[in-house]
Amino acid sequence: MKSHYRVVVIGGGVVGASVIYHLAKFGWSDVCMLERSVLTAGSSWHAAGGIHALNADPNISALQAYTIDLLQEIEAESGQDIGLHMTGGLTMAGTPDRWEWLQSQYRVYQSIGISDCRLVTPKEAGELNPIMSTEGLLGGMWADREGYLDTTGTVHAYAKAARKRGAEYFEHTKVEALEQTQDGWRVQTDKGTITCEHVVNAGGLWAKQIGRMAGVELPVSPLKHHYLISDTIAKLENLDFEVPMTVDLEGFTYLRQDQKGVLLGIYEINHEHWAMDGAPWDYGMELFQEQTDRIENELILGFERYPALQDVGIKTWVNGAFTFSPDGNPLVGPVPGKRGYWCACAVMAGFLQGGGVGKSLAEWMIHGEPEADVYGMDVARYGKFAENREFIKQTTGQFYSRRFVMTYPNEQLPAGRPLKMAPAHDAMTAAGCQWGNSWDLEVPLYFASEEFQENPSLKRSNAFPLVGSECKTVRTGVGLLDITGFSRFEVSGPNAEAWLDNILASKLPKPGRAGLAPMLSEEGKLKGDLTVFNWGDGTWWIMGSYYLRAWHMRWFNDHLTEGVSIIDLGEDWAGFSLSGPDSKDVISKITDFSINELKFMGCATMDIDLIRAKVGRLSVTGELGYEIHCRMGDHIALRRLLLKAGAECGIREFGFNALLSLRLEKGFGIWSAEFTQGYTPGMTGMDQWIDWDKEHFIGQAAAIKERDGNGPSQKLVMLEIDADYADASGYEPVWNNDSLVGFVTSGGYGHTVKKSLALALVNNELAKKDQKLKVHVVGVEKDAKVIQMSPYDPDGLVMRV
Ligand SMILES: Cc1cc2nc3c(=O)[nH]c(=O)nc-3n(C[C@H](O)[C@H](O)[C@H](O)COP(=O)(O)OP(=O)(O)OC[C@H]3O[C@@H](n4cnc5c(N)ncnc54)[C@H](O)[C@@H]3O)c2cc1C
Repeated sequence: MKSHYRVVVIGGGVVGASVIYHLAKFGWSDVCMLERSVLTAGSSWHAAGGIHALNADPNISALQAYTIDLLQEIEAESGQDIGLHMTGGLTMAGTPDRWEWLQSQYRVYQSIGISDCRLVTPKEAGELNPIMSTEGLLGGMWADREGYLDTTGTVHAYAKAARKRGAEYFEHTKVEALEQTQDGWRVQTDKGTITCEHVVNAGGLWAKQIGRMAGVELPVSPLKHHYLISDTIAKLENLDFEVPMTVDLEGFTYLRQDQKGVLLGIYEINHEHWAMDGAPWDYGMELFQEQTDRIENELILGFERYPALQDVGIKTWVNGAFTFSPDGNPLVGPVPGKRGYWCACAVMAGFLQGGGVGKSLAEWMIHGEPEADVYGMDVARYGKFAENREFIKQTTGQFYSRRFVMTYPNEQLPAGRPLKMAPAHDAMTAAGCQWGNSWDLEVPLYFASEEFQENPSLKRSNAFPLVGSECKTVRTGVGLLDITGFSRFEVSGPNAEAWLDNILASKLPKPGRAGLAPMLSEEGKLKGDLTVFNWGDGTWWIMGSYYLRAWHMRWFNDHLTEGVSIIDLGEDWAGFSLSGPDSKDVISKITDFSINELKFMGCATMDIDLIRAKVGRLSVTGELGYEIHCRMGDHIALRRLLLKAGAECGIREFGFNALLSLRLEKGFGIWSAEFTQGYTPGMTGMDQWIDWDKEHFIGQAAAIKERDGNGPSQKLVMLEIDADYADASGYEPVWNNDSLVGFVTSGGYGHTVKKSLALALVNNELAKKDQKLKVHVVGVEKDAKVIQMSPYDPDGLVMRV
């Protein structure tokens, strides 16, 4: 073991081994992996070894597909047998809604290029897996690239292949402490001290403690998980093929063949956390006693689904632990505020995600950014609030128990809520507000009577008319929306303007003006769809999506220069958006500011009655509107004042569901849909805000290359879809004469234009008005055509009046 490495990876499970493999593969071979026991000694040795390409997050699906392709490569490279059995896989649906969902998921997989799937009838499924009872099943999905592998062999294959490329690993070497130095980290082990530039927490069950060694509280917890291995099943002895990996969603089980028996794994509704502060240091390669009482219901369902299990004994029980983050996705990437400290942990399915995690982390460390959009597993998607133990317990438990439970897109899940509430929350609840959640905050969805219950649905729900009525209020009168759920950053200091000019690709607004501001990575991909405000007193605001607060702050801090101060105002500021043709009448009643002078995209500090507010004349609804920001403590008073002043005009509160419909009618994109770090300005129309004449901004060279080259292959368009009971939501495929030509980024109903609308990225040559296309909506093919980008008020006149 040397005394210095460029990178030290802590943990010799499948994830750590994949990280050193990818670092070495991409050219960084001065790396070592330290393992306190032997390779695989955490969760990895006792995993079921199942692999399947499908995941609800399409970006994670793509990384899983990458891992599966990689497996044969590392086997060949290392010469280590990984016991790969590509049996194919079945995912079965047992309720009408689930079957509908599976059919729409199948279309989503087509959109993201997973083409080796097909839908199957229960009869076909029964032939593919002859030990499965098809009783109560409505249909299923077959995927070619599924199966299982030998877990120990796979970890050794990654490690050996990494060693062949120059990386090192050491077993029986425990990391005991970490200390940040000027150039990186001092890693204290029981075999001596190593210094390094970067340290990676791939500690699996011990990730929590390895975080704490560096003063980092990671939102991760282990939970227990059961599977059983049966004795030989006679029917399997007579088959000349292995039964496929089979997931029975309504039964909460997965199954694969194991020699001539089967392995049946259970996602337990009655879940159990274990060692929330991380596994004990002396925890060896141990298992827990099986807890059959806790999983009785799932076992009964499993034995009914696979009746042959009723006639054979159970050879082995495995009750082991593995780790979860609140949303079940890994925690990967540079930890904000800890230079050179990286995470590759909370990987729930290391054998199918480990390859993608290792690849992304290695690219990130070496090139500054991963190639794929990995926001879904970025450690910076959580804020400080997620350090709370009870929050972690509730959310990880909810994810685990609901692993195979269907979640509807309009369903609001309870774990970790309510947490942060804007001061007017209770008054808004009394007014009928139905709440959703963004990051730690409760956000208004729509307003309804006390007894109203929304039905969970893949289609338009019974809240549809309520949302329609809120849209009408905004388009014809005036509506009030709580916008505490926007992010606000204050930038000041002698170099603030120069810094903003470099970090944002747009022209900076003049004093008293606001402007739309794309932010780019060096590779010319989007990093933010922001609005920048120049308050005229040397302070600037950047506003964006609330849930990206920590993620954006990491980017700002990573690029901070001398003479610039940036503060996240999210805990101190709140606000309301007043919008609609009557909004000027309302605001002018309660301010002595000459409101007529505040033109579209103007901004000013003004008094709203007793409140000193910051006001921007803009609105995401596309109407005449004002975003009024106040101190958190003034939020209740501001709401009362605005409601009172608007009473004569019939003001009504509205929620984000209406806002989503209103912005769609205007063709305004939003982050995580039209704008992601996987897309470029040219694809999304964000290039219209780039200031091509400025001397320098981050991502300039790449943006110019896109502009002056052949341009992007796909462009954002607005589609009108011939759909009447359901709307597109995102990632549905777009077809032209049976060829896949794009996908939906977001969709919904335009209540004013009375059309089912969707924004979609489609091949350039088809991005022209009146082009006829087809789109799958909840699994059913519908006619669609390209229409003008902004079906409501195409020239943007009403917001400028
Ligand atoms: C019953 C069960 C079934 C599963 N089935 C599947 C499946 O079918 N498919 C799938 O993909 N996944 C499955 N999993 C999940 C899978 O096991 C994990 O996702 C995976 O093992 C995580 O790997 P890891 O490298 O992150 O963590 P671990 O395997 O826990 O590795 C972490 C390593 O870090 C070492 N370490 C910790 N602290 C230190 C320190 N201070 N110094 C040095 N070394 C340290 C540990 O000794 C350990 O070896 C299953 C898990 C369980 C429990």
